[in-house]
Amino acid sequence: MTPYLSVTVPVYNEELNLRPLMDRLYPVLQRMGRPFEIIFTDDGSRDRSLEILKGMAGQYPEVKVIEFNGNFGQHMALLAAFEESRGEIVITIDADLQNPPEEIPKLVAEVEKGHDVVGSIRQKRQDTFFRRTASLTVNMVTRKMTGMQLSDYGCMLRAYHRNVVNNINRCQESSTFIPALAQTFAASPGEVPVAHAERAEGESKYSLYRLVRLNFDLMTGFSVVPLQLFALMGILTSLFSVGFAIFLMVRRFIVGAEVEGVFTLFAILFFFMGITIFGIGIVGEYVGRIYQEVRKRPRYVVRRIHGQAD
Ligand code: UDP
Ligand code: MG
Repeated sequence: MTPYLSVTVPVYNEELNLRPLMDRLYPVLQRMGRPFEIIFTDDGSRDRSLEILKGMAGQYPEVKVIEFNGNFGQHMALLAAFEESRGEIVITIDADLQNPPEEIPKLVAEVEKGHDVVGSIRQKRQDTFFRRTASLTVNMVTRKMTGMQLSDYGCMLRAYHRNVVNNINRCQESSTFIPALAQTFAASPGEVPVAHAERAEGESKYSLYRLVRLNFDLMTGFSVVPLQLFALMGILTSLFSVGFAIFLMVRRFIVGAEVEGVFTLFAILFFFMGITIFGIGIVGEYVGRIYQEVRKRPRYVVRRIHGQAD
């Protein structure tokens, strides 16, 4: 029987969370009374996650487990699950119980109302102050740069209609950010508030470095505004420097030769040097991504799929 609902879960070293997740997720889906499937992607876990997942695939006919060859990241794990999914509605949810499975019916109801992408806004978000502030800034900058109206980019408890998932599956980009990608295909996006909990067990899989990388994916993957800003800044700086040169020339005639202000000059110079290096870095981000794309290496490697298809 083709499932109506596909729930996709990326898993990276979540051995302690998987059982509790399943104990809450499964009854919620059963109560909805429609055929469903749960697709876990084991993103190269080095703990017992895969073993536990394989056990579940044997125990529940609705469970499928995609075993990755290594760690390819949360978004690749979800994309692989999207390719496997068959449901009319596809849900993404984290494995660490930060997104309560009990909110899924709310998302499904919203899709059934006619929204093809349903995002969620975390109420009373349970993350560190640093993460919340960082997210707030990223959400704001992203909204400005991409022109997309998404309140909470980071929340991965989301629902997508089959049409949108099919379009996502057609994209072959090697680095991506699923909520933003989906938003570009959404004809009628919706949003609902959802509860948010602290991570049940284990630690966040995102170090500061990985978070920064992820946000570069988001900025450069969906907008060229950073490049345009630098072009604009270049024009403004040139205009300003022409004005300044004229000012200095006139001053030279009035005041005569001066050598003071050498250190001020250094400060100004370093400032502009910083901006220049930053600009080169931004260009590099785009060039690097273009390089990644043209190499056309596989985005992820699936070793095996357990359950259902076996
Ligand atoms: N995850 C993954 N691969 C990774 C990093 C994370 O599959 O390389 C999964 C992780 O197991 C979890 C979800 O993505 O189910 C969100 O990760 P995490 O909770 O660490 O992120 P945070 O909530 O701190 O943003
Ligand atoms: Mg989490």
